[in-house]
Amino acid sequence: MLIWAIRGMTFVTNLLLLTGFALLYDWLQRTQFQIQFLKRFRSVCQILLTIGFLGFFQLASTFRIMEAHNRKGFGWSYLGFQIGVLIIALFFKRSRGIFPVTAFLVLNWYWLLPNLVWWGYAFVLTLVLMRVAEKFGRQIIDRPLRYYPFCLLFAAPFMWANWVSLRGIEVGWPWEIFANLAIFYLIWFIYHELKLRNQRHALLLYEARQDNLTQLYNFRVFNEDLNQAFRDYHENGTQYLLYTFDIDHFKWINDRYGHLEGNHALREVAAELKRLVPKISRHAEVYRVGGEEFSILVFDVTTQQYSANAVANHVRKAIGELKFTTQQGEQFQITISMGQDQIDAEDQNYLDLYKRADQRLYRSKETGRNKVTTSDLG
Ligand code: GH3
Ligand code: MG
Ligand code: MG
Repeated sequence: MLIWAIRGMTFVTNLLLLTGFALLYDWLQRTQFQIQFLKRFRSVCQILLTIGFLGFFQLASTFRIMEAHNRKGFGWSYLGFQIGVLIIALFFKRSRGIFPVTAFLVLNWYWLLPNLVWWGYAFVLTLVLMRVAEKFGRQIIDRPLRYYPFCLLFAAPFMWANWVSLRGIEVGWPWEIFANLAIFYLIWFIYHELKLRNQRHALLLYEARQDNLTQLYNFRVFNEDLNQAFRDYHENGTQYLLYTFDIDHFKWINDRYGHLEGNHALREVAAELKRLVPKISRHAEVYRVGGEEFSILVFDVTTQQYSANAVANHVRKAIGELKFTTQQGEQFQITISMGQDQIDAEDQNYLDLYKRADQRLYRSKETGRNKVTTSDLG
C-alpha cells in the first residue's frame, strides 16, 4: 500500500515538473524578451533547460537505484519522464542545437546503462526516431492515431534497454504502460492548449493592427512606423516622406448610394493602393488612417531619383479612374485630395511631418479638390 502511495506521489510530482518544463520551454521560444541575454541566447537557454531537466530526472533515477542497492538499470519511475522531456524538446522546438545535444545525452544514457551488450542498436533506432520527431513532430502530434503509436515506439528502445539491464526484475508492465500513456497525453494536451492560445494571440495581434474593412494597416501601425522612420532618420540619416489623402465629398457618396456601397468603394480603393504602392517603392507602406483617409509612407528615399509630385499625381489619377458599380447597376467615380511632405532636419517631433502633410491636404481641399500639394524633391 505504502509502495503505491509513494509511487503515486512521485508520479504526480514528476507530472507537474514535466508540465513546468513544457511551459518554460514554450515561453523561452515565443516571448519577445526585453532582456538582451534572453533575446540573443534563446536557443542556448532552451538547450540548457533541456539538459537541466534530463539531468535532474537522471540524478533522481540514480539515487533511487542506489537506495535500492541495485546497481543495474535505471529507475523506471523517472525513465518515462526523461522520454517525455525528449519528446517535448523535439516536438515543440525551433532551435537547431537541440538534436545534437539530446543525441549526445541519449548516447551517454545508453553507454552508462550496466549489463547491456547490444545497446548500439537501440541507440541507432532512438536516433532515427528522434530525427523523425524533430522533422515531422508537428504533423505527428496533430493526429492522435499517429501520435500515440509513435510515442510508444519512441519509448520502446529505452524500455527494452532498461529491462535487459535490470534482468529478471519484475517491472509491472501494466503500470509502466499506463504511466507512459498518461505522460504522452499530458504532452498532447499542453501542446494543443498552447497552440490554441498562440493562434488566438496571433489573431488578436492581427486585428489590433489591421483595419477590418480594407485589410490595410490601421492608424496604430501608421503611428508606430512614422515614429520608427523618425528615429531611423536621426540614427542613420534615412530620408522618408509621407503622402496623405482624403476622398472628396465621400459623405455625398454614402448619402446617395448608401453606406454599404461606400464601404465597397473604400475596399476597392484599398485594393488599388495595395497594387500601386510596391511600384512607388519597395520600401513603402499604405495605411488607412481614418474613415476615408489614407496615407502612404515611403522609407529610404534618395532625393535625386524621386519626383514626389509625379508619384502623387499618379496615385490621384489611378484612384480617379476607378469605376464603381452599385448593386442597382449605377456607376460612380471618386476623386481624392492629397498632401505630401518629406522629413525636415528641423522637425522636433515625429508628428511634425504628418501635420505639414495634413495642412497641404487641406490646401488641396480649399483650392478645389482632386488636387495634390507637394514639396517636390525631384
Ligand atoms: P471632403 O471632400 O471635405 O473630405 O468631404 P467628405 O464628405 O469626404 O468629408 P466629411 O468629413 O464631411 O465626411 C466623411 C465621410 O466619410 C463621412 C462618413 O460617413 C464617411 N465614412 C467614414 N468612414 C466610413 C466607412 O468606414 N464606411 C463608409 N461607408 N463611410 C465612411
Ligand atoms: Mg475625412
Ligand atoms: Mg473626405
